[in-house]
Amino acid sequence: MAALVPTTATYKTFVIVSLGCAKNTVDSEAMEQLLLASGHRRAADASSADLLIVNTCGFIESAKQESIDTLLQLGAEKRSDQKLIATGCLVERYADELVQELPRIDAFVGARNWSALPRVVSQFEEARAPGSSLALVELAPPGELDLEIAARHSSGPSAYVKISDGCDQRCAFCAIPFMKGNHRSKPAELILREVGQLLEQGVREIVLVGQDTTRYGHDLGQRDGLASLLERITDRFSELPWIRVMYAYPRHITERFLGVLRERPRVLPYLDMPLQHTHPWTLARMRRPHRDTDDLVAWMRDRVPGLVLRTTFIVGFPGETEAEFDYLLESARRLRFDRVGVFLYSNEDGTAAFGKADQVPEADKRRRRSRLMAAARDITLEQNRGMVGSELDVLIEGRPEHGSAWYAGRSYRDAPEVDGLVLVQADELPVGEIVRVRVQRALAYDLLATPV
Ligand code: SF4
Repeated sequence: MAALVPTTATYKTFVIVSLGCAKNTVDSEAMEQLLLASGHRRAADASSADLLIVNTCGFIESAKQESIDTLLQLGAEKRSDQKLIATGCLVERYADELVQELPRIDAFVGARNWSALPRVVSQFEEARAPGSSLALVELAPPGELDLEIAARHSSGPSAYVKISDGCDQRCAFCAIPFMKGNHRSKPAELILREVGQLLEQGVREIVLVGQDTTRYGHDLGQRDGLASLLERITDRFSELPWIRVMYAYPRHITERFLGVLRERPRVLPYLDMPLQHTHPWTLARMRRPHRDTDDLVAWMRDRVPGLVLRTTFIVGFPGETEAEFDYLLESARRLRFDRVGVFLYSNEDGTAAFGKADQVPEADKRRRRSRLMAAARDITLEQNRGMVGSELDVLIEGRPEHGSAWYAGRSYRDAPEVDGLVLVQADELPVGEIVRVRVQRALAYDLLATPV
């Protein structure tokens, strides 16, 4: 990575608003590092920044709206000496429309080539014409994908590492392949370098992300690439206590991968595996694998005793009947997933399901989501109650509020941002370290504990 150099540029300071998922967060951090390396500095807030950067999400309707609202708001507030730049998935998907509809934006950088950002900023410098230039648009050619991150910088004891991007599947509801293209794996050496950089900064938990992490290595000619990658990381870094895998695709889970979860204690026995649905007909219409979900989950739990399973479901996919939804609800109750997220189907243009005649009314979608979430909450609470009295290792992340009597942390059962917390009552605990606690009380999503 280039050393920090003072810049004589007009556009010296920046803020980045990062929207969307963990994969976008990784790209936002990478853009930040590139700007720092080219001599720019973080600004305290948008009003004091020369560059206003919004890393957008274009996944579903609500995420798109949040991105557009943020761009509109910053566009309205922006002064003529500031530049507003939209990056990320929304740009990748709707660049032409955004250029037409949002004239206050000075540049657009697609999700596949975020590393073009410093070049875009230097083009502003060359033009030296604040507020007057036509919008710059930087989109990568099809098939290209930015995967190399110059250097990693952590802001806490846990860090995401993106091991791949893009997706080879074509689920009928999903626009991600149009934004990200086909699956591409980051070479293992680059991943090992990132992990090493993060560990030097005190990171204690690495969370592997990608659109489909279980496809890792396929494009590099590897079989069981994710299992090999986990082995390489844990062999190389004996000081790494926790590594966690998110976003597994059901059909790509292998015996060898489950063996790594079972046999390597530092690879947490936790898996996020979005299933989207369980009814075979709905899954067929979704163009998802419809291997029997009961069999799949039983096989995984048999191979990895104590496995904590997180999943997400979509309710209200076109044609989802009341009977199909009831089937999903029953299987969620029967399979007792440890953590469940529920999304409403979002009708995305360009996808196979877009505009299908048999759309489910919004009110039905919401009612189904409430029922499924209530069932999932009851299961999580029961499981949490079963934890009372047991001991757990917890990664302490800080106090939730200044002056609080509690520290907030997470055990192996909780992924950052999406799962619950373990709240530990103590006068003094080492933030960023793993401590042993005893669970005293269970709440719907969180646990209350004291140090052992
Ligand atoms: S596997 Fe995931 S990212 Fe890929 S198309 Fe399906 S839902 Fe989208």
